[in-house]
Amino acid sequence: MKSLVIDRPGSTSIIEKDRPIPGPNDVLLRTRVVGFCGSDLSTYRGLNPLVNYPRVPGHEIGATIESVGTEVPDKWKCGQDVLVLPYTACGRCAACRQGRVNCCQHNETLGVQRDGAMAEYFVAPHDKLLTSSKLSLTEMALVEPLTVGFHAVARGRVTSEDTVAIFGCGAIGLGVIAGAAVRGARVIAIDVDDSKLELACKCGASIGINSLQGSLHEQLQELTEGRGPEVIVEAVGLGQTFRSAVEEVSFAGRVVYIGYAKAPVEYETKFFVMKELDILGSRNAMEEDFQAVIGLLEGGSFPVENVITACVPLLEAGTILHQWSEAPAGFTKIQVDLG
Ligand SMILES: [Zn+2]
Ligand SMILES: [Zn+2]
Repeated sequence: MKSLVIDRPGSTSIIEKDRPIPGPNDVLLRTRVVGFCGSDLSTYRGLNPLVNYPRVPGHEIGATIESVGTEVPDKWKCGQDVLVLPYTACGRCAACRQGRVNCCQHNETLGVQRDGAMAEYFVAPHDKLLTSSKLSLTEMALVEPLTVGFHAVARGRVTSEDTVAIFGCGAIGLGVIAGAAVRGARVIAIDVDDSKLELACKCGASIGINSLQGSLHEQLQELTEGRGPEVIVEAVGLGQTFRSAVEEVSFAGRVVYIGYAKAPVEYETKFFVMKELDILGSRNAMEEDFQAVIGLLEGGSFPVENVITACVPLLEAGTILHQWSEAPAGFTKIQVDLG
């Protein structure tokens, strides 16, 4: 079978590998659609500290069951379309013992700490499968990236009473926007690109602010009667936006960080105390976030076609990864269609 591999930073190839053999609790999956994650781009650029090379990328998956192991429950059948929870949980670390398996200390995400799904076939344990008869394979592959935003919204305890501001309207930020809108919050999208703000409004934002135009502080104050948003979610990963979240959030507010800052960030720490802030990290997602996103996509209101910027066959996957690296602002979500 064919597989895309990132050999080393800046280099990909299509290789021939043996088809994997499922164990008794596994299913063999025929890969149909795989999305590229920002973490795959970081791997390609040599900026992902969690990755060793060579690495097969891909953890945003829509697949069809090809065969099932002897111990797999009857509800999973050959020919069924599924999506895959791409994380592992050790069951023993402090996070797992608190039921917060999404941030397991020893998590291995497909395509990051272990080889991913950008291959014609791959094997997954049956307890990592989810399905919906209403979703297309394209939508199934879009579930995981949106769950990351839904989890951030859960971490921020967003309610319909809140105004939520999101820094960054890439694929992850759009998931935050949709998740906050589902909870009935008023959503303010912030980006430096007007076309991304337009897409953010289709995903559920009621207002878009281009932070290059005018004072962000004044606009946020005006929109919130001088209080600031109750919740700010950072999905950019820059020092400036990390700081701005703490400065602009309301008193008694909640700040949620999803992005990884590339360098240490310096803070005016008085805001932590003065505003009595909840400063929260958000990593990966829980199974309940997956169910919530499946529900959103089943509803049909999410603008799937607008979010997927490009869809290419496996043989062109390396080329488009290179194009994404050259012009990251030009793409929101790239998917690979394996047929
Ligand atoms: Zn991802
Ligand atoms: Zn663990």
